[in-house]
Amino acid sequence: MYKPLIRIPYTGPLPPPLILPKSASTVAGATSALAQFLSAPPSPRLRGLDHGHYDQAVFLTGAGISVASGLADYRGENGTYTQNKSYRPIYFNEFVDSHEARKRYWARSFLGWSSLHKARPNAAHFAIGDLAKKGFISSVITQNVDSFHSQAHSHTPIVELHGYLRALVCINCHQLMPRDQFQQALARLNPAWATFLEELLSTGALDTENPAERRKKGYRTNPDGDADVPGAPYTTFRYPACPTCLTTAPELRDGSRGHVETDQDGAWSTESNAGILKPNVVMFGESIPSKVKIAAEEAIDAAGRIVIIGSSLATYSAWRLAKRAHERGMPIGILNLGGVRKEEAFFGDIDPLDSGMTAVRASQPAEIVLPAVLKHLQ
Ligand SMILES: [Zn+2]
Repeated sequence: MYKPLIRIPYTGPLPPPLILPKSASTVAGATSALAQFLSAPPSPRLRGLDHGHYDQAVFLTGAGISVASGLADYRGENGTYTQNKSYRPIYFNEFVDSHEARKRYWARSFLGWSSLHKARPNAAHFAIGDLAKKGFISSVITQNVDSFHSQAHSHTPIVELHGYLRALVCINCHQLMPRDQFQQALARLNPAWATFLEELLSTGALDTENPAERRKKGYRTNPDGDADVPGAPYTTFRYPACPTCLTTAPELRDGSRGHVETDQDGAWSTESNAGILKPNVVMFGESIPSKVKIAAEEAIDAAGRIVIIGSSLATYSAWRLAKRAHERGMPIGILNLGGVRKEEAFFGDIDPLDSGMTAVRASQPAEIVLPAVLKHLQ
């Protein structure tokens, strides 16, 4: 029976990181262990050997790999949950049910998009692309919605487990819209916000994730994290309706036809019961589409080992994939700054004097270690 896999945030404490082998406690040690790990022969413990590339690794990446690109992670030193204890992400049902919740979401996202749009993949993403070209990697599964993997190595098979922010999807007709086009529409519908955004960009207030520094540069946020735009509270924020639903009334779940109304400028109006665009990501409380879930499982099953980069596996969907790999007898390597949820389950029976052939666990920066691993293997 198909069981939906729902994305749920985890904010509990994490254990201190394990280090395996012992020599992996430095950048050089972690590099050499990971190089051994990637070039080892297929593990004799592997099960289900009816297909797949057993000497290749599947890489599973999380927010930690994008920190060197200037994005915030969740639990790192400057992570969202660390900097803002009361941070609570929007849930799917809230977004779908509430016009107020959507206004607030899009107002904040309007200000945040330019930083993400400007950010670029870093040395870790490019090293993964080069390792894949050399045959060490069969595919990449990412929890990130920043599109950095596809920008850095479009030649590698990539499963974007939680979708991507580069497009929006209509919850009624499922048509996609590029985010750039949507951003322009938001600017047109919210001129005061557009002016404010320009000011923020010119002061550099959006170049930092640090709330204190942002405030210093003129970006004020309320205790609940809302941007404070002079003369333009988020309750007046407007967002466009789905253009496809505007021309062709979509069919709703109950079989009836939806209707979409806009104001004179094209902003979605509360008279509507359809035409709602959402970021094309799996929001918290939303199920991962079954075809994505299956693609991720197939990517695990087609590889002979797994390397987890920049993820504390706090999200159940990611932890489950690591567990699947472990149950298949795949050697596991983890490169993540800080602890990983329930990691002792993967490394309990590993000899700490092992050279890195069967397991690696290091707490070093990926943007330094992965390019060094690549060099080591050349
Ligand atoms: Zn639509």
